[in-house]
Amino acid sequence: MEESVLIKIKDDISTALGKRQKQFGTGNRVEILAVTKNHPPKLIVDAFNSGLTQVGENRVQEALHKQAVIGNKDIQWHLIGHLQTNKARQAVGIFDIIESVDSLRLLELLDKEAQHINKVQKILLQINIAEEPQKTGFSVGDYETAVTKIDNFPNLSLQGLMVIAPQTDDTEKIRSVFRKGYEFFAKLKEVQPVSILSMGMSEDFSIAIEEGANQVRLGSALFGARDYSLKF
Ligand SMILES: *Cc1c(COP(=O)(O)O)cnc(C)c1O
Repeated sequence: MEESVLIKIKDDISTALGKRQKQFGTGNRVEILAVTKNHPPKLIVDAFNSGLTQVGENRVQEALHKQAVIGNKDIQWHLIGHLQTNKARQAVGIFDIIESVDSLRLLELLDKEAQHINKVQKILLQINIAEEPQKTGFSVGDYETAVTKIDNFPNLSLQGLMVIAPQTDDTEKIRSVFRKGYEFFAKLKEVQPVSILSMGMSEDFSIAIEEGANQVRLGSALFGARDYSLKF
């Protein structure tokens, strides 16, 4: 990653923060989650050395491999891809935050696995706000049920929400999804001590920030195209 790229992104983040029309319950700072999937381990080390200490990976296997190569650094590992229930144990073993929690069954399993290793697992709930059938995430109805049950899981610590915008050029549609994301967050904050609203990727992070995001998940904007030929 070129240093100038990171400077430009931080600049864009400041501009978007400046365009906010109101005060949000997510504060005035935006964290960058460096999405390093389909990039080699060395890229994570470079990102870390540039001050990007929070890393997002989509797959348990790939993250395991990279952690083994990189060794013990002060990196915060986030899982942002759909988690299969049979990988729950491994995920709890290696991720600081699991952002892509999308079912009640997964909540139960993660709590059980975290209890096994005496960990309090930080999680976000992912909501499929646009209700896109091909996308993961809780449906709105299931999300609302999950929130009512969250206190039943002593080994999970709910930190906030993760939202993915629909893939479209229609920026107003994208904006309305992020706006709803913030509304869900604000409502959740009334009943749970949440602080993270993870919304926005390379193509739409400015809109997400304008609508209240305080974590953006950036891959290609930081690191260029992913290399899908890499095997982990
Ligand atoms: C891949 C991915 C990203 C990053 O996507 P870019 O468009 O490259 O920034 C962010 N969030 C999730 C959930 C992803 O799967």
